[in-house]
Amino acid sequence: MVLEHVQEFLDNELDSATEEAIRAHIAICEPCLDQAEVWTALKTLVKRACTSEGAGVPESLVSRISLRVSTMRIEKRA
Ligand SMILES: [Zn+2]
Repeated sequence: MVLEHVQEFLDNELDSATEEAIRAHIAICEPCLDQAEVWTALKTLVKRACTSEGAGVPESLVSRISLRVSTMRIEKRA
């Protein structure tokens, strides 16, 4: 139910009360935990791609993972 907010949560775009509620929810909700883990991996990859060290990470890979994330989100909801 809070899957929509997982990305915002990981990006620290939520106020502390909402963040606290999501943190508590993720602790007990496996689909949301999965989602959080995928987004964390994706963010790490994107961050690495933005540094000189990770300049070799192809944009196509990043978009493929993004696609996978959205596909997964649909599967979990179905
Ligand atoms: Zn959930």
